[in-house]
Amino acid sequence: MALVSDWAFETDLAVVGSGAAGLAAALTASIDGLDALVIEKTAHYGGTTALSGGVLWVPGNARMQHPDAANDVQRALSYLEHHVGNRVGPEKLRAFVTEAPRMLDHLLHHSQLDVETFFGFPDYRPHSPGALTEGRSVEPRVVAGRRLGKHLGTLRSRGPIAPAGIVGTMAELRQLASARANPGQLLKAWRLLPRNLWNRAAGRRHLANGAALIARLRLSLLERQVPLWLNASLTELLVENGGVIGLSVDVGGQRRNVRARKGVVLAAGGFERNAEMRREHLPAEPDTSYTSGSEGNTGDAIQAGMAIGAAVDLMDDAWWAPTFMPPGGAPQIVIFERAKPGNIIVDAAGQRFANEADPYNDLVKHMQEAQQAGAAAIPAHMVFDHAYRAKYPIGGMLPGVTPKRHIDSGFVIRADTLDDLARQAGIDADGLTATVARFNAMAAEGRDDDFHRGESAFDRFSGDPAVGPNPCLAPLDKPPFYAMKLYPGDLGTKGGLLTNEFAQVMDTGGAPLPGLYAAGNASASVMGNFYPGAGGTIGPAMTFAYIAARHAAERTPKSTPPAQAQIPQ
Ligand SMILES: Cc1cc2nc3c(=O)[nH]c(=O)nc-3n(C[C@H](O)[C@H](O)[C@H](O)COP(=O)(O)OP(=O)(O)OC[C@H]3O[C@@H](n4cnc5c(N)ncnc54)[C@H](O)[C@@H]3O)c2cc1C
Repeated sequence: MALVSDWAFETDLAVVGSGAAGLAAALTASIDGLDALVIEKTAHYGGTTALSGGVLWVPGNARMQHPDAANDVQRALSYLEHHVGNRVGPEKLRAFVTEAPRMLDHLLHHSQLDVETFFGFPDYRPHSPGALTEGRSVEPRVVAGRRLGKHLGTLRSRGPIAPAGIVGTMAELRQLASARANPGQLLKAWRLLPRNLWNRAAGRRHLANGAALIARLRLSLLERQVPLWLNASLTELLVENGGVIGLSVDVGGQRRNVRARKGVVLAAGGFERNAEMRREHLPAEPDTSYTSGSEGNTGDAIQAGMAIGAAVDLMDDAWWAPTFMPPGGAPQIVIFERAKPGNIIVDAAGQRFANEADPYNDLVKHMQEAQQAGAAAIPAHMVFDHAYRAKYPIGGMLPGVTPKRHIDSGFVIRADTLDDLARQAGIDADGLTATVARFNAMAAEGRDDDFHRGESAFDRFSGDPAVGPNPCLAPLDKPPFYAMKLYPGDLGTKGGLLTNEFAQVMDTGGAPLPGLYAAGNASASVMGNFYPGAGGTIGPAMTFAYIAARHAAERTPKSTPPAQAQIPQ
């Protein structure tokens, strides 16, 4: 590559992407005394992170009140070794469990980041060796949007993730979801009331979930005067003497070269929005319309890395989530609703094919397996009765309120009999009737002999505590009946640039590319094909961002090219 001398800007650490990984890398660098720059391709910062639940899976975190907290790093390692196996190198797994609590501590002490435990949320395989029934998942505390000043307007937003615009932590929203059936839950979520009244009455915008996480990181960067350029897209990595020395950025159609004295962190998300890459790497799920990933995530950083010889891994996997597709609206992931009693998920033959309460990543894998085995499970159908509809929110609808527009558009199918429901939904009527009859008999006994729904701590956490003996089972016997189509959506892809335990990007020959780091969904996940628990994508994203920034801080690059620094307009 030709020598570059027309530097438009210089910094220590150049960070590509403004999601959790990117902002955590820049913040760590700044706390540790480096200059940093964040570039963001779109007009809004925050990426998928800002649209997310914002939960972080951090074993051994300082907020843990679990009796085993002191030994949790080792326990978590055995949990990951059990499930990730040799899909990911042992050094990288160890780096994650060791550095994750340090990352969180560091940012809690030196920035506006603040989190609380998502109490009661078990790991996704709660009965595996090393799993915990709560404590590893933490979520950001609610924050007042006005603190961002003019930068509130450029925070990526799809609005609150709960129905009716309710702003609450994930723990509060979960309690609210059972409140109709179990009013005691409302008491636990009392903070929702003043906050939401205040939001409405005074036009205040409190931020929760992923928006709160990004807001807190962005506030911290503003305090430290770390620049974040919007509408600035990575186009090329600049290499000299075998190391990455900077990057080319498209800023409003102008090419600007940014020199990065210590390194470049690629944190530009996955390739979920890139149809061509999906066709190549995820041929079974090529459709970009079912993803909930952010619009800018088109795999640019992965491609830029590959262009200079980087290796990739796990490209055939994603963070899957069953998804509703409301006409004209954004995809809606279906998380806790499936575990509530009074619904089943069936294929076109009317057959169940999985434990409906399974973790979202697993449920989509079951859909895919059923489809590959010859069933018509894509889309599948979530079927429920009046009692379920009256008690629980689903598909952005409050309990008991099913807007006519959703019936008219076919988003929700409603019928007085299972036969008619099946006919309207395109499900085999005899199959559905037989499945419901068998399910109802099992529900009456509180035991799912077919798929063991409600037996694990994970299932029960998402079920309805007011229902017994099994909080995940109730018969579907109160008409009208409902059906909604369920698609194999995703939260983003999990394959990307292969990195080592220092978050350095590896080349295809197995050596680190000096000066180049990756974190978050731009990198191949430390979790391999596994999803460990709530926050299993953002926890590692921020951890490897932190590792990258700290490793880069220690670097002494071989060459120091001349620079002329000026900020692009
Ligand atoms: C509804 C929903 C809920 C979720 N809840 C959780 C949860 O609670 N916990 C959890 O762990 N995970 C959750 N996830 C998944 C999680 O949000 C993502 O896996 C994670 O946020 C990815 O972070 P990231 O920093 O890698 O990428 P992102 O947050 O997507 O950020 C990447 C950024 O890079 C930018 N970019 C792309 N290309 C370029 C370029 N060429 N130049 C400059 N910038 C570029 C993008 O525009 C984007 O802003 C959820 C996802 C969804 C959709």
